[in-house]
Amino acid sequence: MHEYSITCSIIEILYDLIKKYNIKKLKKVSFEISPLAQIEPQSIEFYYNFMTKENGTLKGAGLEFKKGKIKFECKTCGKYFTSENLISNCIYCSGEKIKATDIDDIKIISIEA
Ligand SMILES: [Zn+2]
Repeated sequence: MHEYSITCSIIEILYDLIKKYNIKKLKKVSFEISPLAQIEPQSIEFYYNFMTKENGTLKGAGLEFKKGKIKFECKTCGKYFTSENLISNCIYCSGEKIKATDIDDIKIISIEA
């Protein structure tokens, strides 16, 4: 069920954007999903279509999902790097003290109106 609450927050963000930019019809929304997130894009799509069916502006927008990258910080050498998968060693110094810094499950990267 957590896709339901995620979709609710997505729609809230979209409402704000629509007001801010005076958008009449939303065509496409692109998302980036963290490789760490347990999110089913199909569920987001399902809830989105269900929750926006009465809303002429949001209704029928195409949803596009891209796989994001995880950002890491190395505590040994202080460098930052990204990876598509969870890794356990720094790519620069092979140190094991690395920390995932970007833990957003899903974010809106662009909208088309
Ligand atoms: Zn390092």
